[in-house]
Amino acid sequence: MNLPCKNVKKFIFGKKTKTDFRKHIAIFLVLCYNITIQLLSVNGDVLHDAENGNNISDFINTAFGGETELTMAIKLVEIPRKHSNFPLRVAMGHFATSHSHLNYYIDFTMSKHRLSEARAGAQLLCGQIPSSQIVDTILCLDGTETIGACMASELTRAGYMNMNAHRTIYVVTPEYTSGSQIIFRDNIAPMIVGKHVLILAASVATGYTVKSAIEAIRYYHGIPVGICSIFACAQECEGFPVLSIYNKNDIPEYESHSPRECPFCKAGIPIDGLVNSHGISCF
Ligand SMILES: [Zn+2]
Repeated sequence: MNLPCKNVKKFIFGKKTKTDFRKHIAIFLVLCYNITIQLLSVNGDVLHDAENGNNISDFINTAFGGETELTMAIKLVEIPRKHSNFPLRVAMGHFATSHSHLNYYIDFTMSKHRLSEARAGAQLLCGQIPSSQIVDTILCLDGTETIGACMASELTRAGYMNMNAHRTIYVVTPEYTSGSQIIFRDNIAPMIVGKHVLILAASVATGYTVKSAIEAIRYYHGIPVGICSIFACAQECEGFPVLSIYNKNDIPEYESHSPRECPFCKAGIPIDGLVNSHGISCF
C-alpha cells in the first residue's frame, strides 16, 4: 500500500487551515501565560513568607547573629563559636529522627563530605585521644567515612600504636540488617575480630546507635576502645567517655525528646523535617 508522507500527515493531523494554525498559536500563548503566572505566584509566596519572618532561619539569625546559607526548604546558620575551620551548622524547628524529636537540626553535610573540614575535624578529635590509646580500626557511623579516613591518617602519622599485622588502621562502615542490627560480612569481620575499635559518629544524642555499635563489636569479638563524635549530648556512653568537637554547651537550648513525650507534638507544632544519618527531608 502506497502512503506518501504528505498523505500520512493529512491522515493523522487532518487538513489544517490558516485559522486552525492561528488557534493553535493562541492556545500556546495562553498556556505560556498561565505557567508564568503560576511561577510568579509561587515566588511571591516565598517572598511573602520571608518578609513576614516565617522562615525558621530568621529566628536563628536573630538568636545567634550568624551567617545563613540556603539549603532547600530550611536555612542553616553557622555557629562560629569554637572552630572557624570546622563550624557547626544548625537550623531551629521541630525535627524527627527514628528515636527522638529534636528542636535543632544539626547539618553535618560539609563536615562529612568536604575534605578540608573533614581534615580539621579529624585533627580536633585526634587531639583528644590519649597517645597511649591503641587503635586498629575506626568504625564510622552516620556516613563519617571521610573524617574516619583523615583520623586514620592523623593517628598513623602521629605514631599512635596499633596491634594489627600491617601496622595500619582500618576504616570500616557497618552494614545494617532490615531490623537495624549491625553486621559485618566475612571480608570485613577480620578488621573487627580481636581489634581495638574506635567508634566515630556524627552525633551522640540518645546513644542508641553507639550502643548498638558497641554490642556489634563485642559480638564479633572486637574490643571497643572509645567513642568520638562531632556533636554529643552525652559525656559518657556504656562506660566510655564521648570525645566530641561540639557538645550541648555550644547549643544550650538543644532539646531531645522521645516521640511520645515531645512537647512540640503535644503543642500541635507540625514537624519540619525527618532526619537520619544521610541528612534531612523537609516537609
Ligand atoms: Zn515532636
